[in-house]
Amino acid sequence: MPRYVYDFTEGGRDMAGLLGGKGANLAEMTRMGLPVPPGFTVTTEACRAFLATGSEPDGLAREISGHLTVLEQAAGRRLGQPDDPLLLSVRSGARFSMPGMMETILDIGLNDDSVLGLAKASGNERFAWDSYRRLVQMFGSTVMGVDSALFENVMAGLKEARGVGDDLGLDASDLAGLVEAYKELIRQETGEYFPQSPAEQLRRAVLAVFESWNAERARVYRRREHIPDDLGTAVNVQTMVFGNLGADSGSGVAFTRDPATGRPGVYGDYLSNAQGEDVVAGIRNTVPLDELQRLDPESYQQLCGHMRTLENHYRDLCDIEFTIERGRLWMLQTRVGKRTAEAAFAIAAELVDENLISPAEALARVNGEGLARLMFPRFDTSGLGAPLAHGLPASPGAAVGAAVFDSAEAVRRAAAGEKVVLVRQETNPDDLPGMVAAQAVLTSRGGKTSHAAVVARGMGKVCVCGAEQLSVDPVARRFTANGVTVEEGTVISVDGSEGAVRLGSLPLVDSAVMRYFETGEQGERSAGLVDAVARAMGQADSVRRLGVRANADTPEDAARARRFGAEGIGLCRTEHMFLGERRKLVEAMILARTDAERDRALDGLLPLQRQDFIEILAAMDGLPVTIRLLDPPLHEFLPDRTELAVRVAATEAHGDAPDPHDAELLEAVNRMHEENPMLGLRGVRLGLVVPGLVAMQVRAIAEAVAERKRAGGDPKAEIMVPLIDAVEELHIVRAEVERVLAEVSAETGIAVDCPVGTMIELPRAALTAGRIAREAAFFSFGTNDLTQTTWGFSRDDVEAAFFSAYLDKGIFKVSPFETIDRDGVGRLVEIAVAEGRAARPDLKIGVCGEHGGDPDSVHFFHGAGLDYVSCSPFRVPIARLEAGRAAL
Ligand code: ADP
Ligand code: MG
Ligand code: MG
Repeated sequence: MPRYVYDFTEGGRDMAGLLGGKGANLAEMTRMGLPVPPGFTVTTEACRAFLATGSEPDGLAREISGHLTVLEQAAGRRLGQPDDPLLLSVRSGARFSMPGMMETILDIGLNDDSVLGLAKASGNERFAWDSYRRLVQMFGSTVMGVDSALFENVMAGLKEARGVGDDLGLDASDLAGLVEAYKELIRQETGEYFPQSPAEQLRRAVLAVFESWNAERARVYRRREHIPDDLGTAVNVQTMVFGNLGADSGSGVAFTRDPATGRPGVYGDYLSNAQGEDVVAGIRNTVPLDELQRLDPESYQQLCGHMRTLENHYRDLCDIEFTIERGRLWMLQTRVGKRTAEAAFAIAAELVDENLISPAEALARVNGEGLARLMFPRFDTSGLGAPLAHGLPASPGAAVGAAVFDSAEAVRRAAAGEKVVLVRQETNPDDLPGMVAAQAVLTSRGGKTSHAAVVARGMGKVCVCGAEQLSVDPVARRFTANGVTVEEGTVISVDGSEGAVRLGSLPLVDSAVMRYFETGEQGERSAGLVDAVARAMGQADSVRRLGVRANADTPEDAARARRFGAEGIGLCRTEHMFLGERRKLVEAMILARTDAERDRALDGLLPLQRQDFIEILAAMDGLPVTIRLLDPPLHEFLPDRTELAVRVAATEAHGDAPDPHDAELLEAVNRMHEENPMLGLRGVRLGLVVPGLVAMQVRAIAEAVAERKRAGGDPKAEIMVPLIDAVEELHIVRAEVERVLAEVSAETGIAVDCPVGTMIELPRAALTAGRIAREAAFFSFGTNDLTQTTWGFSRDDVEAAFFSAYLDKGIFKVSPFETIDRDGVGRLVEIAVAEGRAARPDLKIGVCGEHGGDPDSVHFFHGAGLDYVSCSPFRVPIARLEAGRAAL
């Protein structure tokens, strides 16, 4: 039979799984010789057994009573002893801290008799009744299920009757009356008496803490924090010490340094003559910890000493809870404290300077998510009320602009110099120009991997999506949220880090870290923080094995990516080079009836593409640039089918002959219409059926390379073929590519030699990677398509439809479009890496999907042995940092 109870003297910090974080750290402090009231911990295993069967596990009661006897002997008092009772606290404490989510009950062991004994033994009648009323209230609400507001009401009524502002104004007889009123309240609400037996109080309190694991708010919290539901909580049973014994007693919380900035120095709050949760409950005003130095210098000195001891021992920022009983200091809790991203970097750097941790440990203590937060400007929301609406924090940062309701309006106003926020129900590729023009994108539908979210993140643009309280009316050009109507042109503030929308223009605090990446200058303000970030980046770069490239399609993005530390371009999409002015040429290419017509269109596109490549290769001179041949289906470059059909039908209804061009376009659009374009004529399939397309693109690349070489540059273009299923496809396209490369070399007299590789983004390609590798100089995993095709999910369709249900049901903990699905998609990656390398040991392998900039996925790619990840320019520093952490 497992053992369910451990004394504080038996545990330690490495036992958090079994004893919970609070129990493990109480044991650690006990072992360190710090003054911790004695006690014991009931394990999470006991909780799991209880939750699984609904009854108390065999032997638990016996173990608890054995440990209780030890406590009683050491204290020289028994639980509930009438003349001098031992009192206990019963405290929840799970493996991962879930602040305020579960229950704690203080002063167990008091009843109508022992309260008198406590009064006599302590010589403080008021204190005894104050403790008893706390017990009845906590037990009544937590264990017996009475709404705690009802207790508050009784207390408020009494305070009013006595004309006192806070509970300190109530005397012993007031409090005794309160106990009676509380007990009566419990009897009315539950039909049961408050239990007078201390043993029953203890037993029921322990079981109530077990049950609080499954409280609604605890579940919700776990889901949000990705904490598994099956861990259970431990229960700590501890001898009470009393902060409510008078002015020489009190209770407080403290941090060993500032958790907001990381600056050294003790921070905290103290409340004299108070017990337990009074400090955080805001019942009375606390004083800053410094004040304790005046009130009780000796305890203050001791406390500072203990905090130093803890920092040196944990080698990290600690937060603590303490109580002073008649001038004697007790430590009630410690843990490695939560902190802001800023503090995480600052503290890591400082602890290195203090020789407490190594640079490698410092790197382990910061992360990409935190770095992302530091790169975006932020709002100063101090002192502001609730926002207009909440949504998902899809792409962090802060933006202010006039609300606009369609892409064209966004573009128009932005061109006139106005800052705008694009507000849509959801976005689609047609909204792209508006998204580019806007400061932020706000949608009422869609998840964190919806079109709006993915595109905005890629552009480093602020985005809040799925703000369901928002009702967007694009026709009337307004939205309403919580009763407020916002018309087009009204200025709103969008906080992509918090996921909030507010009216008006909030003041911005810009990011020193971003300025540092952009300019390489540390600046004066926030110099400490920027220096700390720079040091973490340096450490990451010195240990990482994964290369980091960027996904960039324009010279501007390429240049930025380079400043951010990209070691090349892993994905240069050529599709945007077919848009805008060039659309006419693309249309002509698609509609061409003869080879000559088509060639003319392609000849028109050639110089334009070539110029694009020249500029990008110049921006990335000396570094590899992987250029992907055209990928999306051609109809994306033609007008919308419905619009066109309506136009033609309307003309005919007037008895006129439709514009012949429209008629011809409609015919082409109909011919090319696909039910499932994602699985249709796209990628390499286009290159195989549209004559001259591959040749034109390759020629543009090759001529750009020749041109750059002639200009003395060092261009390193790589040609990447998308959506390969079968090696035969690659074989045919590669022959064409090589033919054109040879032609251009001959024409220019400059050797143009570009490696030809392929994307691996279909399961069949991954499974036949050994064969494909014989034709490919490199692989790049397109994990967006690979995820879609492995799961059989169309990303644009599933997210709004049922992803939240899947997340709720725990089918996955996080969207597979956000973080790589290791078991399925990851397995395909591993197979392709192994078989590809077996066939061609020098095969270069990278990844260029969204996942390339996702911290958890970066760790997976490191483990899978990839050579590099490629991500949007803004995520490059994040990928560098995480690649370094993965190598630790
Ligand atoms: P939480 O996890 O919500 O912080 P705790 O178990 O830490 O809950 O209990 C809340 C507060 O109750 C503690 O900060 C402390 O002030 C008080 N408390 C808990 N145990 C004791 C004890 N043995 N003696 C005195 N006060 C206690
Ligand atoms: Mg606590
Ligand atoms: Mg793809």
